[in-house]
Amino acid sequence: MVKLHIGIDDTDSPEGMCTTYLGALLYREISKIAEPLDLPKLIRLNPNVPYKTRGNGAVAMSFDAKEEDIPKIKNLVLGIVKELSDFSHRNTNPGVVFIEGDIPEKLERFAYQAIWEHLDITDAENIAEELNAEIHKFRLGRGIIGALAAVGHPLKVFTYELLAYRTREFWGTGRKVNKESVFAVDHLTYPFTYDNVDLSKGSVLITPHGKDPVLVGIRGIDKNKVMWAFENIIFEEPIDFFQIYKTNQNTDDHLRFKKIAELKPLESAIVRGKVIKKYWEKGRHVFFEISDETGKLRVAAFEPTKGFRKYVRMLIEGDEIIAAGGVKEFNGVLTLNLEKFYPIKLAEKITYEKPKCPKCKGTMKSKGEYLKCKKCGYKMKKVLIPKRIPRDLKRKIYEVPPDARKHLSRPLTLPMAEDKILDVLKLKKVV
Ligand code: ATP
Repeated sequence: MVKLHIGIDDTDSPEGMCTTYLGALLYREISKIAEPLDLPKLIRLNPNVPYKTRGNGAVAMSFDAKEEDIPKIKNLVLGIVKELSDFSHRNTNPGVVFIEGDIPEKLERFAYQAIWEHLDITDAENIAEELNAEIHKFRLGRGIIGALAAVGHPLKVFTYELLAYRTREFWGTGRKVNKESVFAVDHLTYPFTYDNVDLSKGSVLITPHGKDPVLVGIRGIDKNKVMWAFENIIFEEPIDFFQIYKTNQNTDDHLRFKKIAELKPLESAIVRGKVIKKYWEKGRHVFFEISDETGKLRVAAFEPTKGFRKYVRMLIEGDEIIAAGGVKEFNGVLTLNLEKFYPIKLAEKITYEKPKCPKCKGTMKSKGEYLKCKKCGYKMKKVLIPKRIPRDLKRKIYEVPPDARKHLSRPLTLPMAEDKILDVLKLKKVV
């Protein structure tokens, strides 16, 4: 028996298909010939790369196979990728990788590079050659980046997602899933399954909106509860097939601590800094500025983050915060697209008020350098009284709402969701 690892990426476009659909189909077909070593993997990569269709996801799976069956399996994979990839779209550049034997350790490093950085197709080609991985490129073949990374990702921390797919005649039509049943199932399985519904909006989150074949995606940390949720949701259209994936979704895999001067566009980071310019708005987007000892940085909470922006507006100059998000350049300015923030130390918020009239306790009115009582006309030099205003922000992590959250971002309802952010506090001299 030989261990065979398969990675696939970039088969879909906004107009249709989904790499997980293809992966689930293949996993089922190959499992008729070879022994699966684990569930298939759905690996989310750098959320900021411009080529992604939706969530920059790639798929990998591993089997114990008979030596003589390996060519058959490879042909099956390549045949299905050729047949089902959405080549109608010019941005679909599928890549497939096959690796036999143990997964080389170097590929784990490559997987994290693909999550943290921006890579070229040649980076993938070079590592494939070095590790003797068999790569297949269709068109530009950019998918080999994701395919190699998906095979290499060790999934030491993971969650599950059950994906159920629609029959072909329903693709592109409105999804028919009984809303009440999703709320009922959420009530019984949360937090072992999560992101099923948005309670504040009364909306269902498990159904995507595009033309892809996914009917629902149910996320969770307990495989059995995910399965139970799926069995108890009422579907009002047929299901073609379904598959549970093991995934790095909601693990904060993409976040690393960085100094402001080290930030590069298209990466994600956690930074620690002081607010040097309180919020301003442009359109419905909210911006502010922070600095650390290496430089200053614009931070943004964009319109889709909705109610989260309210907390961003509460930050004032002097507040010390930890902020996490993706780094992008907007109009030539490096900007952190905020996913979470944690106020470490809040500055004092002071307003200056006019005193009451010392004679009659009446209200004083400003008259240039002087204050004049509205009631008795008493006049005195203008001296204002400082008053401390209580701050509304708490010492807790604030996160964007579920529908604005990146696939990789860990929701606070999950265990250890605060670790990566709060670990920054443990860094003595921040490097
Ligand atoms: P879906 O989630 O629906 O499967 P997608 O958002 O994953 O779609 P793809 O069509 O797979 O989008 O396109 C992403 C492309 O970006 C792939 O070709 C992948 O190999 C490539 N890619 C992934 N990570 C990186 C990276 N770090 N640097 C450069 N390219 C990357």
